[in-house]
Amino acid sequence: MGRKERIARAATQTASQARETAARERGRSKRTTSASGASAHRHCSVCWAPIPLKAEPPVCNDAECESTYEKRESSRKRLTLMLYLFPAIAILLAIMTAI
Ligand SMILES: [Zn+2]
Repeated sequence: MGRKERIARAATQTASQARETAARERGRSKRTTSASGASAHRHCSVCWAPIPLKAEPPVCNDAECESTYEKRESSRKRLTLMLYLFPAIAILLAIMTAI
């Protein structure tokens, strides 16, 4: 019976308590527009402030958030492109050397 064991048990207890509380909260809160129980809104992808559901791009009115989002988006696009481009080149080279 060590200290570690006690801590582990306490942690699992807390986790199950949290789950129970969350379930209770979900049951209590009124059903809003969506079936999942979440109210109809989304969050700014930079600062997580609640914004209207139809906000496009998904950022708040803050100019800083907008530029951060744009930067993030362009780097993400670049990454996706590389993800496809490099295997494509590798396959192309493999085919060319095989011929
Ligand atoms: Zn924001």
